[in-house]
Amino acid sequence: MTDRSLPAGLRPETLAVRTAIERSQYGENSEALYLTTGFVQPDSETSAQRFSSGEGYTYSRTSNPTVTSFEQRLAAMEGTEAAIATASGMGAILLMIMGLLRAGDHVVLSRSMFGSTLNLFAKEFGKFGVETTFCSQTDVDEWRAAVRPNTKLLFAETPTNPLTEVCDIAALADIARAAGALLAVDNAFATPILQRPTQLGADIVMHSGTKYLDGQGRVMAGALCASHELITSKFAPIVRTAGMVLSPFNAWVVLKGLETLGIRVKAQCESTLAIARWLEAQPQVARVYYPGLPSHPQHELAMRQQNGLGGGVLSFQLAGDTPEAARAKAFHVIDSCRLLSIATNLGDTKTIISHPASTSHGRLSEEQRQAAGITQGTIRVAVGLEHIEDIQDDLLRGLTTLS
Ligand SMILES: *Cc1c(COP(=O)(O)O)cnc(C)c1O
Repeated sequence: MTDRSLPAGLRPETLAVRTAIERSQYGENSEALYLTTGFVQPDSETSAQRFSSGEGYTYSRTSNPTVTSFEQRLAAMEGTEAAIATASGMGAILLMIMGLLRAGDHVVLSRSMFGSTLNLFAKEFGKFGVETTFCSQTDVDEWRAAVRPNTKLLFAETPTNPLTEVCDIAALADIARAAGALLAVDNAFATPILQRPTQLGADIVMHSGTKYLDGQGRVMAGALCASHELITSKFAPIVRTAGMVLSPFNAWVVLKGLETLGIRVKAQCESTLAIARWLEAQPQVARVYYPGLPSHPQHELAMRQQNGLGGGVLSFQLAGDTPEAARAKAFHVIDSCRLLSIATNLGDTKTIISHPASTSHGRLSEEQRQAAGITQGTIRVAVGLEHIEDIQDDLLRGLTTLS
């Protein structure tokens, strides 16, 4: 028979479409969905051997072929040896903490990270004696100074939500290496289309598959991508025991989402840049936050680190004399939209508009929000795949009728 295994040296676009476990005996062209909890064993001897070695399929909390396909494809796209899937992005962070840290260990994080991430470390794992220090997203010296003898992990997210602050992954990787700690990067915002953190020296890439990887707002998913050694020795045994597994159905949806990740993200980046430029020219808009704009404080770093792309999320600020006036203006612009969705989530084909001060960052005090640079007049737009002029028209409805 002719050799039908994938040739070596395939390019990322090809890997995104072709990487998966072997086809079944039916030769399906689209990957099969193995929606099953258990796997029938041919005989007791084989069963005993699979249970002891962990090879082959037995039970879907241990492994499932559809989930394996998703893990292999994501690892190929991130350029890591292996990956392990979880039920959500937060599940992936939980797995990382459980796999790498114990009481008395210390972690350095950016203070601009995803709110639930900050809570999980400081609040939930603070209870178990994991110590955390929060640093500026952009000041590398602050990270270096925060490292202690018991520092085991540096965890960064770039660009951040909602103000798109960019951190220097290679510089943080140097600090981690010098400290004998690991660097993990939350790549949910950027995706491997913009950046592959392990090529810049990171050890672990964390994903929320809920965002761009699915890309159509359908399922929750998460993953850690890393070396074969880290995945098999630190993470896989915990998923099996603790059970934060990805369901095969959700794995299948995200697996198929990965096939179009590149074209979706590139189109979203192109639209977001055009909308960011257009917003900068609107008289009602005080400031636009987008790494693709030369006015962004880390524009050069972002373009170098992110493959020349700014991403699919921007924020802008409406001027207001008081927080109350700014909030009223922001609500007016958001509520005037007839197309854009008022929703939580990002990376969807449908453009999503949100007011961070009353939603994702609503639990912070006004003072903490001001320190983070998020005001009552800040609006976030996660750009989808609608025609750009329809998105602009929708935003103009509110902008041109501000009192
Ligand atoms: C959404 C998100 C998460 C959490 O992912 P879930 O799948 O919602 O659990 C983590 N980090 C970033 C940057 C996110 O946007």
